Amino acid sequence: MALFINKKCINCDVCVDECPNSAIFMGSKTYQIDPDKCTECVGHYDKPTCVIVCPINCIKSDPLNRESLEQLAQKYVNLVESEG
Ligand code: SF4
Ligand code: SF4
Repeated sequence: MALFINKKCINCDVCVDECPNSAIFMGSKTYQIDPDKCTECVGHYDKPTCVIVCPINCIKSDPLNRESLEQLAQKYVNLVESEG
């Protein structure tokens, strides 16, 4: 599942346009991350850019759903290929 936004999110919008995979969307109350699109920025940046820009540090790794670098890289390749 890569990263997730916890309920402390203040909907400031800062992270939305920064995501290279367009993985961040408005949920029922706060922004959320689509786990099928989040590569933890693998393929784009050295570190998750949403985590860097979030002013309140509410974007976290899910310890129960860790993905390896190889899995994240494969997800990136699949996303690029699906975009045609
Ligand atoms: S870690 Fe990167 S790909 Fe995942 S939601 Fe944040 S900005 Fe998007
Ligand atoms: S930058 Fe942080 S507080 Fe702002 S919308 Fe994104 S997750 Fe929420």
